[in-house]
Amino acid sequence: MSALLEVSGVSKSFDSFKAIDNLSFSVNEPELRAIIGPNGAGKTTFMDLVTGKIRPDTGSIRYGELSRDLTKMSEAQIARAGIGRKFQKPTVFEDQTVGENLTMALAAPRSPFAVLFRRVDARAAAREAAARVGLEDRMGTPAGILSHGQKQWLEIGMLLAQEPRLLLVDEPAAGMTSAERERTTEMLVEAAKTRAVVVIEHDMEFVRRLNCRVTVLHEGHALAEGSLDHVCADPRVIDVYLGRSETTDA
Ligand code: ADP
Ligand code: MG
Repeated sequence: MSALLEVSGVSKSFDSFKAIDNLSFSVNEPELRAIIGPNGAGKTTFMDLVTGKIRPDTGSIRYGELSRDLTKMSEAQIARAGIGRKFQKPTVFEDQTVGENLTMALAAPRSPFAVLFRRVDARAAAREAAARVGLEDRMGTPAGILSHGQKQWLEIGMLLAQEPRLLLVDEPAAGMTSAERERTTEMLVEAAKTRAVVVIEHDMEFVRRLNCRVTVLHEGHALAEGSLDHVCADPRVIDVYLGRSETTDA
């Protein structure tokens, strides 16, 4: 295990508001990591910074064994370097079937299958990608009629088809049934056996099932890190989550 992503002393302000404040964070390869924290803590902004959507004001973001500086790379270069991102809302091609969506993802430039693609059985490859996210029986179904949870899985499947080294997933459980949530945790745990996966999530039951190291983000910096039990026992984390603003040592 070695650090795949190393964020050091990163700050980012919007106008005068410091959304990310001297944030340091690193994730290994392979590793599954959860990021939790109240609304507005800077979780999505963190992903915007790593994927090159926005640039930090200060600090560095290094990636891979060559310690490439992501702050100097374009969004497209960062994606090609193996960083995949799942946004909160599913963005699949609704008019295309599950199989067609996955086939497009498999043929994308980043995919290790792209070169071999004409030589392998495209249908078999797409079915295998579908099986990773439990959609092997839905190959011919237009993505538009899938349930919300299934659309999320399809998008995760499309990202995994491109074999990212680092997968960033923003609030996948929102709007899912509890059965879908449980299935989603299994997929992410499996995916993280061979890559780094960083999951932002509010649902504590979901995070508990991920059974991984947790980073608590608050006001743009890492407030606590460790197992879920460890961070939940931290008085500073309790303050943030329960909104208890006064100390109780009187
Ligand atoms: P979280 O995902 O933890 O709920 P965000 O990262 O979305 O929080 O937002 C952190 C803070 O930064 C919020 O106060 C938000 O309004 C602000 N923010 C995020 N992106 C922008 C932007 N592009 N312009 C202005 N303010 C932003
Ligand atoms: Mg967010």
